[in-house]
Amino acid sequence: MLNMFRTGCLQKMLSWQHMHWRSAGRPMFMGTSATERHKTQAVIFDMGGVVLPSPLILFKNFEQMSGLPEGLIGKAIISDKHFGAWTRLEEGKLSMEEFAKEFGVECSRLLGKEVDMSGLMPLFNRTYVNPYPQMIDAIKCVRAEGLKTALLTNNWFNIKDQESFIPLDLTLFDVVVESCKVGYRKPHPKIYEAVLKELGLPGQQCVFLDDIGENLKAASQFGINTIKVKDPDQAIVDLERHLGLTLRGYMAGTTTVPRRLTLDKVKLTSYLNTQLKLHDKAEPVVRCFSHGQSNPTYFIKYAGKNLVLRKKPPGKLLPSAHAVEREYQIMKAVEGHGVPVPKMLALCEDDSVLGTPFYIMEHLPGRIFKDHLLSDSRPEERRAIYSEMIKTLCKIHSVSIQDAGLQGYGKHDGYLKRNFQRWAKQYEASKTTDIESMNKLMEWIPKNFPPTERCTIVHGDFRLDNLIYHEYRPEVLGVLDWELSTLGDPLTDLATLVICYYIPHGFPMFPSFVGEDLKALGIPEEKELIQEYCRRMGVPMIEDHVWDFYVAFNFFRFAAILQGVYKRAITGQAASPDAEYVGLYAKEVANKAWEVATRSNHRLTNQTTAASDPANSGRRHYSTSAADMTSAGSLIISVESLPERVRTLHKQVKEFIATHIAPIELKYVAHSQSKDKWKVFEPIEELKAKAKAAGLWNLFLPRESDHGGKYGAGLSNLEYAFICEEMGKYLIAPEVFNCSAPDTGNMEVLVKYGTEEQKQRWLVPLLNGEIRSCFGMTEPAVASSDATNIQSSIVRDGDSYVINGHKWWTSGAMHPRCKLCIFMGKTDPSAKTHSQQSMILVPMDTPGVKIVRSLSVYGYEDPPAGHAEVLFENVRVPASNMLLGEGRGFEIAQGRLGPGRIHHCMRLIGHAERSLELMIHRTMNRVAFGKPLAAQGTIQADVAQSRIDIDLTRLMVLKAAHMMDHYGNKVAANEIAMIKVAAPNMALRVIDRAIQSHGGAGLNYDSPLPYFFSAGRSLRLADGPDEVHRRTVAAREYKKHMKHKL
Ligand SMILES: Cc1cc2nc3c(=O)[nH]c(=O)nc-3n(C[C@H](O)[C@H](O)[C@H](O)COP(=O)(O)OP(=O)(O)OC[C@H]3O[C@@H](n4cnc5c(N)ncnc54)[C@H](O)[C@@H]3O)c2cc1C
Repeated sequence: MLNMFRTGCLQKMLSWQHMHWRSAGRPMFMGTSATERHKTQAVIFDMGGVVLPSPLILFKNFEQMSGLPEGLIGKAIISDKHFGAWTRLEEGKLSMEEFAKEFGVECSRLLGKEVDMSGLMPLFNRTYVNPYPQMIDAIKCVRAEGLKTALLTNNWFNIKDQESFIPLDLTLFDVVVESCKVGYRKPHPKIYEAVLKELGLPGQQCVFLDDIGENLKAASQFGINTIKVKDPDQAIVDLERHLGLTLRGYMAGTTTVPRRLTLDKVKLTSYLNTQLKLHDKAEPVVRCFSHGQSNPTYFIKYAGKNLVLRKKPPGKLLPSAHAVEREYQIMKAVEGHGVPVPKMLALCEDDSVLGTPFYIMEHLPGRIFKDHLLSDSRPEERRAIYSEMIKTLCKIHSVSIQDAGLQGYGKHDGYLKRNFQRWAKQYEASKTTDIESMNKLMEWIPKNFPPTERCTIVHGDFRLDNLIYHEYRPEVLGVLDWELSTLGDPLTDLATLVICYYIPHGFPMFPSFVGEDLKALGIPEEKELIQEYCRRMGVPMIEDHVWDFYVAFNFFRFAAILQGVYKRAITGQAASPDAEYVGLYAKEVANKAWEVATRSNHRLTNQTTAASDPANSGRRHYSTSAADMTSAGSLIISVESLPERVRTLHKQVKEFIATHIAPIELKYVAHSQSKDKWKVFEPIEELKAKAKAAGLWNLFLPRESDHGGKYGAGLSNLEYAFICEEMGKYLIAPEVFNCSAPDTGNMEVLVKYGTEEQKQRWLVPLLNGEIRSCFGMTEPAVASSDATNIQSSIVRDGDSYVINGHKWWTSGAMHPRCKLCIFMGKTDPSAKTHSQQSMILVPMDTPGVKIVRSLSVYGYEDPPAGHAEVLFENVRVPASNMLLGEGRGFEIAQGRLGPGRIHHCMRLIGHAERSLELMIHRTMNRVAFGKPLAAQGTIQADVAQSRIDIDLTRLMVLKAAHMMDHYGNKVAANEIAMIKVAAPNMALRVIDRAIQSHGGAGLNYDSPLPYFFSAGRSLRLADGPDEVHRRTVAAREYKKHMKHKL
């Protein structure tokens, strides 16, 4: 909402408030509203002959049916106006049976022969029940204007003293006076006294509609204005004239168009005819929406269509205000991107048509909830309504700016900063006295901007009452009022939604949830609201202190606006009579903002204390813990469900691969077999520069280790999984995006455990793609699947460490640009088993580092990076090259085995997907035994099984990534172990089927299949042998069982 406080939006805020806080039900009107324009405050309706058809018609029918002379009943009624049966019936003194008898006697007397009148009254209940629709429409319109309505009827009891004859929806009337209940019938003066008393108005402020002259005459004795009703249409015209209102085309939330907003109907009709191709003999019925509109919004009924026209207000406007063109643009743009909005029909920017630009959209029928507590709903309905609201907000924030063609809709970065500067400046300009908390906030906010800021479509005024819900279901059909939309930080929209959780009752402009038992009501608590948002967006739960920032920031902007309003009010520039006292709330709001900011400071202090606790220092920190499992949210399983930014990245990576990488893959294969294979493959370097320039760079670093996306793209493991899978489809793709092993794992180690100096020396050039690195753990002499076996030594000697060891399968060590080895060895063989090992940074050009040879996997050497056997003989490095500290090698290894390693699994899914794709192409185009291979059942079974295998494994990989994101690598260890077994084995099966279906071609370098196969096979070892991971999984299973027994 606070975005709304762009210039010109206060009007909207105020009008909205009037609806909420002055009246629980129908709107009350102020300023130039109907009650002030017209003295008349209430309209009194007779029933039969006004709202319902006249009873005379029914009398006539009865007379015809019963063979009675026409007019007999009427004559009988007036024959004894004071004590006759009809009079006493309407005074509630006779039962139906008594009436039938006595009225029969009266009619018989007039006719001179006996007649049976017992069938007359039942006929009323059978046939006399349909009110005039135009009159009901008019009554609703009268009420919509804030006038009271009364029903004043001469009627009777169907069942004595209990059920009276009144076949109308009584909620249409504020007051109902029935003759049978009060004991007087019109034209008796007492019945008029009764209705005026109930209305609490003098006769002069009422107008009465009746079809009987003497009833009107009696009413006029009380000063009541009267309208004689001959037919309903004439009566409505007369009433319209009397009230100066339009009483046709009722639509909830609309009123008569105020004079200053009147539309030129001739021009409007011509526009509708020409632009929308609508035609009707009758002119359009035009009404005005009354709810919180700073842009006049009209409801139009024309040619059987219900339309909404929204236009700029007349008069002088600030250039950026009331931009209906922007509103049209964004609603039209998001229409096809999952956001529910009314269908946009036309935009007219030509002032000569209706004075100012406008647009037309379809009218969406449905419910708009103005009462945020949803007093008329049950708890489960409230829950569903709020949940749907969040879902809708997520839909808005998930729209791809690019796909929707909204790149130019606003700036893409620095939204918070720009906004802050704007409001700080505005506040300074409108200061009337020093508000201490505002001063503090202006210092605090710039120091506490969140490290990352996403950019999505921001609605700017997203609240419950800007949503149209389905008539019965908790389903949003349309999001309205996009006037303040822009591109910016989506969390400002979310923060707008929680204002009511903070603001006290009685505060103008906002409803309050303070002190409400939200749980019992079924309304989500603030935290639940945020959790649901994060779960639906697929983002980790917002950290408390970050959230506090957004709330404080929103209140700050709100306070700045209110201060501006106040200043304008006291200098006589504000239009609204309420502006002066609304402005006085500025200080209260600023105090609220500072309260939240202080809370945030406390949180941060506590967090810092915990981090500086020696027991915690240097230990891996997880943003979520197993104890907080409720906040994990649901697992995203498709690209479509990813946040918009990630979907865009995914799309860009895919396109980049197709455009730049796929075409040179075979060139790389040729290079890898040439005599220059150990030299850099130059086309990759060119593509790296392109990828970097396109921002498709270092996408791998998970948010968990790279808080604030300082080094990488700030993706979660899960988000990266989808992108990494794409990279896995092409041999050289990971390197092009600087996302290839073992650099990714090494960079993560440096981000997490490196000192500033180590980061500068090694991390920066690695992140820049200037150098490459390797990881030296495995040794030929010992079973390295058990890392405690590692024998290499790292011995402290003065300011240096001296390293000796024999390593192999050191991937990447052959690369001409490989400058760094993260080396694992023992610093203290006498320490506890898991404290003997350390990791140290060894520059590859240090004397004593000798590459012995390159190792191949089924003949593949992966040049130029390769897998090397390396000797480290008396290699001396500075002591400052030690990572994290002596004896902490296992700790680092644990950290490194997380994201860096599951990337292999993600890429293996990519290998498998591409293999399956190749298999499908091949088998569709290759004919054997008279038909394409694809027509063979065994081939089809293989294809189907491959799809099943891939999809199953992908789900497991995503689950592991999700667990890592939400609970940390430690809690996700089991899931990681499972996929390390599942992914390569699955890939091998799928690739093998693809190879088989290719025949001989499947084994040759011409296709990537043999390479994929060798990679898949080596990953059953390279990431630790299957058996070791299975051991982890099994141990956990047994542990669970043991626990149960205990
Ligand atoms: C292509 C490739 C790249 C590599 N890259 C690197 C690298 O960059 N850096 C690096 O340090 N290392 C690397 N490695 C080495 C890899 O990590 C090791 O090969 C792996 O850890 C196994 O160690 P090992 O070869 O010594 O096998 P061993 O430990 O000797 O194990 C041999 C076999 O014994 C069985 N076994 C082991 N433990 C158990 C058990 N608990 N229960 C049952 N059976 C068991 C398994 O079948 C295992 O395969 C790479 C390997 C390959 C193939």
